[in-house]
Amino acid sequence: MYLTGLECPRCKEKHAADRLQNLCHCGSPLLVRYDIGALARDIDRDDVLRGRDDMWRFSSFLPVPEDKIVSLGEGMTPLYSLDGFAGEIGMDCITIKDEGYNPTGTFKSRGASCGISMAAHLGAETVAMPTAGNAGGAWSAYAARAGLDCVIAMPEDAPEITMKECALYGAETYLVRGLISDAGRIIGTACERYGWFDVSTLKEPYRIEGKKTMGLELAMQLDWDVPDAVVYPAGGGVGLIGIWKALEELELAGWIGPERPRMIAVQSEGCAPLVRAFEDGRTDSDFWEGAETIAGGIRVPKALGDFLVLGALYDSGGRAVEVSDDEIMDVLLTLARTDGSFICPEAAAAVAGVKRMREEGDLTRDDEVMVINTGSGLKYADLLEADLPVLDKEDEINVTPEGE
Ligand SMILES: *Cc1c(COP(=O)(O)O)cnc(C)c1O
Ligand SMILES: [Zn+2]
Repeated sequence: MYLTGLECPRCKEKHAADRLQNLCHCGSPLLVRYDIGALARDIDRDDVLRGRDDMWRFSSFLPVPEDKIVSLGEGMTPLYSLDGFAGEIGMDCITIKDEGYNPTGTFKSRGASCGISMAAHLGAETVAMPTAGNAGGAWSAYAARAGLDCVIAMPEDAPEITMKECALYGAETYLVRGLISDAGRIIGTACERYGWFDVSTLKEPYRIEGKKTMGLELAMQLDWDVPDAVVYPAGGGVGLIGIWKALEELELAGWIGPERPRMIAVQSEGCAPLVRAFEDGRTDSDFWEGAETIAGGIRVPKALGDFLVLGALYDSGGRAVEVSDDEIMDVLLTLARTDGSFICPEAAAAVAGVKRMREEGDLTRDDEVMVINTGSGLKYADLLEADLPVLDKEDEINVTPEGE
C-alpha cells in the first residue's frame, strides 16, 4: 500500500484517507496521493505483466488493501484498430480501447469497483448517487457484491436496460422527470437527511482511481509508450482526468517518459459546456441549459471537475470538440459495417470528433489516435431499428442476381 492521503487540487489542503470523505471545504473534488517514489523502488514495471488479469494488477497504484478488493474482473480491456474507418477518413492508425468488455458493459465498472471497495472498507452502509444510467448499473452491481445498500436516481429517459440493471441488483431506484443534475439535487438532499454516503461523480475521491487504470493499462499495452492523442467522450470527464493522472504517476515512477498524448474531450452540440469553456480559454464551465443528446452518458450540463478536465486539455496541447447527434449516429452505424465494431453513442461522438479534426487538418494521416469506447453498443439496442423481411415456413430465399 502506497496510499499517503487525499489532496485538494484547488486549495492544496490535505485530507486523511482513513475515513469517508466527500468534497474539500472549498468545494473541489479530492485527489488520491501515493508515495510513488517508494512504489518505484519496490516494483519493476514489468512485474505487473505477470499480475492479475484485471485492473487490480495495478493495485500498487490504487488505494484498496488487497483483502478489501470488491471485483468482478473489470479492466484489462483489449485494444484493436479501426482499419476500415481510418482508411475512409485518411488516417493510418485509430485504435479503440474497448471498455464494452467490462462486467456491466461500460468502463463505469472500474470506478465502481474501486469506489465501492473503499466505501465498504471505510464503513459506509448505504451509498447513493444520481446517474445517466451506466454508473447506476455498475454501482448497484458492486454494492450488491459488497453487501451495501444502494440508492439510485436517474432521468426517466435513461436507457431502459440501465433501469432494469439497478432493479435487478436490488438498488432502491428512482426515475426523475429531469436531468442528471436534477437527480443529483434530490440525492444530495436525501444523503443529508438519512446519512447516506453520497457517491455522485467526483463527490468521493475513489471513482477517479478506478478509471485511472485505463491510463495505466493503455501505457502498458503500448509497451510503456503513449499514443499521439487520446480521444474521450466527456460527460463529467472523470475518465479523462483519470487517464491524465495515470500518466503523471507513471512518469513519476519512471515507467514512462515525459511524452504525453494530446487529450481530446468530445461532447455533443446539444450539451457542450466544456467545449464552450475551452473555446473561451476559460478554466471552468457554465451550466448548460436544455441539455439534449442521444449520447446520454455525456449529457452532463455542468461537471464538478471541469477545471481538472480543462487543465488536462490545455497542459497536453489538446482541445475540446463538439459533434452533432446526426454525426454520432452516422459514425455508430458506419463503424459496424467498416470494422465490425458496435460502440456506444458516446464513443461514436469521440470517433466523430476524430473525423472532424482530420477534416480540419488538426490530425495528420500518421497521428496515432486512441479512442476510448466507454461502453458496449449492446446497451443501446433501443437506438437501432431493424426492418427485416419475414419468411413463412414454406418460403424460400430468392436473391435477385446483380444487374437485373
Ligand atoms: C459515463 C459515461 C461517459 C462519460 O464519462 P465521464 O468520465 O463522466 O466523462 C461516457 N460514455 C459512457 C458510455 C458513459 O457511461
Ligand atoms: Zn480545497
